[in-house]
Amino acid sequence: MSLSKFNHYRYTCLMPMSNPIKDSKNLETLISKLKDKHRIWILTGAGISAPSGIPTYRDDKGEWKSANPIQHNDFIKHESYRQRYWARSMVGWKLTGRAKPNPTHHAITALQLTSRVSQIVTQNVDGLHNIAASKDVIDLHGRLTEIKCLNCEEVSKRADYQPRLVEINPELDDYHATIMPDGDANVENFDMSRISIPPCNNCGGVLMPNVVFFGGVVPKPRVEKAFSTLAESDCILVIGSSLKVFSGFRFPRWASQNNLPMYAINQGEMRGNELFDFILSEPCEQAMPIIANKLTLN
Ligand SMILES: [Zn+2]
Repeated sequence: MSLSKFNHYRYTCLMPMSNPIKDSKNLETLISKLKDKHRIWILTGAGISAPSGIPTYRDDKGEWKSANPIQHNDFIKHESYRQRYWARSMVGWKLTGRAKPNPTHHAITALQLTSRVSQIVTQNVDGLHNIAASKDVIDLHGRLTEIKCLNCEEVSKRADYQPRLVEINPELDDYHATIMPDGDANVENFDMSRISIPPCNNCGGVLMPNVVFFGGVVPKPRVEKAFSTLAESDCILVIGSSLKVFSGFRFPRWASQNNLPMYAINQGEMRGNELFDFILSEPCEQAMPIIANKLTLN
């Protein structure tokens, strides 16, 4: 890492946001526990992207905020579900496509630059770790910034698909709707059967966002790499996740079974919280820059 890049993170990106820390003693406790850890395995969830304007599925109690999201089989099997998905995605992309990383993402990148991080694994599909220049991130559930052909499997940029969607569905271009999680928007009172879906440029096949929908399967190589790096780490740090989804929860569960020190920064209820050695209940966008600053000084 160049000195200028390091200083960029230290002095411009690691500025905490305005939410105050309630209990600095607890923050210091977590820092002291992380101080001698040089292979920190990080798992992030929706809570870290909320300050970037990306809504979360669940409230502080881990309950659904609104109707269930699209299921994998519905998208694959039914044109009508795909029309509904792409209509809502076309409107939602106006925000999702512009979302920027926040201090939590930058702090994680700073920690990685100082070689304290063994692996970054995220349950988020917003791609913000990558935009924040974190390296080798395992996107467990894929990325909304990509689309994939169900026939020829070619992967292309979601940003390049938006003009194609807009061109053949101009009546939706100026539709204003509440933005929902995962690039979705609350498009209602619109005849979805009017929506046209551009096909794959390569083979004319059906396109899908390159993400794992609910009911879909996380590709095995991602899970295996996550487990193998976890096995070589000296602690697990969960940031901004209620761990309600098993595809994320299996890692802390494994860490517990293998006596790995377990820490979390999370506000609200968390599945398996009794397994953790220490949970810091503070806003991660406030706590992480301070933690990264203290740890990168050592
Ligand atoms: Zn194709």
